[in-house]
Amino acid sequence: MEGSVDQYAVVGHPVAHSLSPFIHSLFARQTGQSLSYRLMDVPPERFTEQVYEFFATGGRGLNVTLPHKTRALTIAHELTERARLAGAVNTLAARRDGSLLGDNTDGAGLVQDLTANLGVPVRGRSILLIGAGGAARGVMAPLLALGPQRIVISNRTAERAMALAVVFAGLGAVEGCGFGELGAQPFDLIVNATSASLTGELPGVPATVFGPQTLCYDMAYGRADTPFVRWARTLGCREAVPGWGMLVEQAAESFRLWRGVRPLTAPVLAALTGRPSAGG
Ligand code: NAP
Repeated sequence: MEGSVDQYAVVGHPVAHSLSPFIHSLFARQTGQSLSYRLMDVPPERFTEQVYEFFATGGRGLNVTLPHKTRALTIAHELTERARLAGAVNTLAARRDGSLLGDNTDGAGLVQDLTANLGVPVRGRSILLIGAGGAARGVMAPLLALGPQRIVISNRTAERAMALAVVFAGLGAVEGCGFGELGAQPFDLIVNATSASLTGELPGVPATVFGPQTLCYDMAYGRADTPFVRWARTLGCREAVPGWGMLVEQAAESFRLWRGVRPLTAPVLAALTGRPSAGG
């Protein structure tokens, strides 16, 4: 791409709903960085070709979203350890020698929101992670690094939860199970990493896992409270929050990788949650 302004984009399919251009334009303004950031709607069969073309014509960095996060893992020339553990790439960065670095900032985004923004203690606490897809896998290593007492991964398809538990067993106390095998004991922290909220559904975990001290976090977000957030509140949990903070924090981590400066996230979070409309 011609021009003196560094080029960035988010690549997905579909991607029109993405808030990344809005978020990164606020980061750029706040930090005085001159850059452009656009949407790239690319179907899976054209992903590799379009990404290489983007970087060959001067692109500096890409955010990668569904359905390309796994494919992006294979086209990066080098991976950060957290991307390797996540098994997915959500950020690509061009390096001076022209090679591509693949990173995954989703887990760091969740951890930053939980610990720095929400003040949720994780060390020594019991965590229920609902879901066993890409987002669940991406947050496992960063959560385990905080030293929880244990993480139980529970998924609609129990086998996927058990397989994910095996992957991370070496990093801490991890178990995998189906929804029906969850006991009556409430957890300290419940993270909903399923996409159920996107279709207005609830994951079928028993209400007994929610206690009065339980903090509930839904990775999904929207203009209105998500079904999971609403449900958790009706069950009397301590607090239930949607994933806006994770969204902004993972973006800030990408921005830092590209530009060497981490923007302040609070003003962007405030701008987003005050917006009249917002998507997934
Ligand atoms: P994914 O790889 O497609 O995995 C989807 C997961 O949701 C699977 O575990 C699936 O269970 C489960 N699921 C889907 N519908 C369900 C239902 N009706 N009941 C119970 N479980 C259901 O998706 P993903 O990439 O992990 O994303 C998951 C969620 O995280 C999405 O809502 C996404 O928007 C969100 N996310 C948010 C951020 C953020 O920054 N806030 C970042 C990344 C992801 P099965 O295995 O049984 O199919």
